[in-house]
Amino acid sequence: MIVILKNNVPGAKEEQLVSWIKNMGLQVHISRGVYNTVLGLVGDTSKVDTELLESLEIVQSVKQVSEPFKCVNRKFHPDDTVIEVGDIKIGAGNFVLIAGPCSVETEEQIVTVAKAVKASGADMLRGGAFKPRTSPYDFAGLRAEGLELLKIARAETGLPIVTELMNIMDIDLFEDVDVIQIGARNMQNYDLLREMGKLDKPILLKRGLANTLKELLMSAEYIMSSGNERVILCERGIRTFSDYTRNTFDLSAVPMLHELSHLPVIADPSHATGISRLVPPMALAATAAGADGLIIEVHNDPMHALCDGAQSLTPEDFDALAVKIRDVRKAAGL
Ligand code: PEP
Ligand code: MN
Repeated sequence: MIVILKNNVPGAKEEQLVSWIKNMGLQVHISRGVYNTVLGLVGDTSKVDTELLESLEIVQSVKQVSEPFKCVNRKFHPDDTVIEVGDIKIGAGNFVLIAGPCSVETEEQIVTVAKAVKASGADMLRGGAFKPRTSPYDFAGLRAEGLELLKIARAETGLPIVTELMNIMDIDLFEDVDVIQIGARNMQNYDLLREMGKLDKPILLKRGLANTLKELLMSAEYIMSSGNERVILCERGIRTFSDYTRNTFDLSAVPMLHELSHLPVIADPSHATGISRLVPPMALAATAAGADGLIIEVHNDPMHALCDGAQSLTPEDFDALAVKIRDVRKAAGL
């Protein structure tokens, strides 16, 4: 249920209303827009007397929200959420380019790629230290050492780092990470999501391999309702019956998620296609579709990458793509 307050309601009256609602055992999420303040009521709202609420002097209107997700719902929070990572902003027209290798391999590799993508205009550096791999025999990342190498690359370039956390047990190692990625395979790891809700750090939440948008939003709801409002959604392709690409890039997810939620939405054309030559056209398409950013795999030597070489762009390819992304944004008036 959402309660839209009238303009210029005195603070004391608002507080009175909020504590009255809380006394019914509900949580209240307050969102202040330019014109109105919106109260999002989370919990069992069946006890709330809607007519009484609507009759209050300071209340403009009351709406029932039929979707099961509340905190992430745009009805709760009509303005786009802007997430800050240092000086970088994501959302509400602020576009971010996140680039880097699938996995961190050596200091030379991560620093070389970080410098190259920064020179091309990337805003953040990606790189997996803990890698979820389909086969237990594949390279699964340098783990804690990989995180240290990412920090070296950050110190050399100033780029904030985005990296995947797979297990609650490793959470302390991520204290100095700028953005924690929850990967597709963990999108419904609810204990992990609740832990992400206790952190004061942006969480990049990727859509699961076979998950609906509603399930993605419910997973974001886990993080938000546990206390962390800084969630970035990511469309990274889903499993369908595509035979020539790694996944099916569900581009309509971008505008649909924007319609349903106030959270920033980015796209990952690398995992969505699995083929480096398809990454530039799909990156441009996602940009035109209104994504708030892109996360793209770039490797200095894709032929010898320890993970996802086939979908990795070379730094030169990424440089050319970054120019086109800026052109598309300009042409589309974004
Ligand atoms: C990744 O970003 O390297 C990754 C493993 O992504 P996903 O969880 O989308 O497969
Ligand atoms: Mn990868």
